[in-house]
Amino acid sequence: MNKIFHFDSSPEPYAADAAVLCCFDQRIRLATNKFLQRQGILRPDMIVVAGGAKTLASPRNDFEREFILEQVRMSVRLHHTKHVFLMSHSDCATYGGLEAFGNDRQREMEHHRHELQRAAELVHANFPDLTAKCFFLTFEGVHSSEPILSRVA
Ligand SMILES: [Zn+2]
Repeated sequence: MNKIFHFDSSPEPYAADAAVLCCFDQRIRLATNKFLQRQGILRPDMIVVAGGAKTLASPRNDFEREFILEQVRMSVRLHHTKHVFLMSHSDCATYGGLEAFGNDRQREMEHHRHELQRAAELVHANFPDLTAKCFFLTFEGVHSSEPILSRVA
């Protein structure tokens, strides 16, 4: 193969600070990255898929949910992950956007709070040793939902 780009990356093995499940929506990418840095998540295993935490809470099919659970499993096995960040965001097209909530931001956020809760329950049921943290991103920042069902070590 022809080398077409030079960039030095660290080849050192790492333990992931968290597995991060988030939407591929480009509008919230920068906020997601900045937020993770602020949280001290410098080595995340990013699981970036349409809908983010929706793939666990309200998957389109069983395959989708199983695939995501397998990605978390791999993160644990390969990078000793102990935390999962579950994320969803405002105006997500997989939910029909803000419009699906009558352009009511409160209603939308409330719906996502339940979705994130369900995703956290699923993570807890499958990975009792992991802690799940829930976050909802808007175009103004990040909201956290109470850590749910996380087992105190
Ligand atoms: Zn989205």
